[in-house]
Amino acid sequence: MEIGQKFNKLTLKEYFFYIDNYKKYTDFNTLGLYRSIIENDKLHLADKIEVREYAHKIFKNTFDFLQLKDPKTYFDITTIGQELTKADERQLWNNIIDNQQKILADKKFGYRNFGDYSKHNCGYETCPLNGLMIRQGSTISEAHMTFNSDKNKYAAKDKSDRRKTDRKNEKEIIRAIIGIG
Ligand SMILES: [Zn+2]
Repeated sequence: MEIGQKFNKLTLKEYFFYIDNYKKYTDFNTLGLYRSIIENDKLHLADKIEVREYAHKIFKNTFDFLQLKDPKTYFDITTIGQELTKADERQLWNNIIDNQQKILADKKFGYRNFGDYSKHNCGYETCPLNGLMIRQGSTISEAHMTFNSDKNKYAAKDKSDRRKTDRKNEKEIIRAIIGIG
């Protein structure tokens, strides 16, 4: 069976239903589910948090992997509804950077399955993303928008093109790495 509609249009009840029944749907995409929580404008803030917590009961391990695969989405979902100080943000990025190293060091995954990663290097010594592992060609400039909100607008179209490719491959990649499916 297929869900046949976009996650970011689901209602709260539908989220619960599809999470409960995810095994029945061939087009259920865990990372797509998490990403949609941010994009979904049918959900109130409290609903978004509820969906996230509900999803975590089943998919928390996959979600944690987003720290490497898509750290900006991980950051955004983790902090839904929170008012963060710069110090809070910096602490959270530090945790993500540490956890990336743990994921990469985990022999069970095998570093080379992840593709080419390199460390974020924008040249600003104070950048909170220094040390963050990013996939080559990835869109971490987006994460900079947390700190420099109006920059990089020109990259928006590029970014959405790359996103499409990312999403297409993501299911297979995650299956291969985590062995879910
Ligand atoms: Zn930077």
